[in-house]
Amino acid sequence: MSFQSLGLAPTLLRALSEQGYQTPTPIQQAAIPLVLEGHDLLAGAQTGTGKTAAFGLPLLQRLAATPQRDRRPRALVLAPTRELALQVHENLRAYTRYQRVSSAVVYGGVGMGQQLEALRRGVDLLIACPGRLIDHLARGSVDLSAVEVLVLDEADRMLDMGFLPSIKRILAKLPRQERQTLLFSATFADPIKQLAMEFMRSPREVMV
Ligand code: AMP
Repeated sequence: MSFQSLGLAPTLLRALSEQGYQTPTPIQQAAIPLVLEGHDLLAGAQTGTGKTAAFGLPLLQRLAATPQRDRRPRALVLAPTRELALQVHENLRAYTRYQRVSSAVVYGGVGMGQQLEALRRGVDLLIACPGRLIDHLARGSVDLSAVEVLVLDEADRMLDMGFLPSIKRILAKLPRQERQTLLFSATFADPIKQLAMEFMRSPREVMV
């Protein structure tokens, strides 16, 4: 199994080979074709399995396929911590080196200035910690009405950290129709299943 056979664009394949990626990991093999087909996805995967590329590559392919319409983000990745948000952002920027996809990351514990400036310029892809994203929504500095793809990364950790109310407030700002939702979690306790039932449409399941 190769990345090429998963249906990824040449621009992504080039970036992957430069990163030294040769073979897709099991979660990538299972998830990438389903996400490219447009399905919602419920994925059971721990950190270290290659989950970031499993959602990131098909997401970037979708964004790169059509030009950015305006300054509103078309994809949103929610992550529990600043460290994870930064890591996801860094990985996705490496994958998207040969594409025109603009991105920004927002998290708490730092000043708003740079984040406000990035959002004002406009981004295709926004990676965010829930608390700080709520702050931006309250200030009107971000408009989520054009989000086509939502990723909940490490959803179980976000719920453990008490982010469920924030996640629900964020979800209420997203378009419901025509949205693709990808949920990654190491565990699937009832609250995660409920979240999936409430906000996803006939998700495919992949467990590795
Ligand atoms: P993740 O589970 O997304 O945090 O990824 C764990 C690590 O594996 C990261 O450092 C990735 O850059 C790396 N990685 C992900 N997919 C592959 C792959 N197919 N081949 C080689 N390294 C990979």
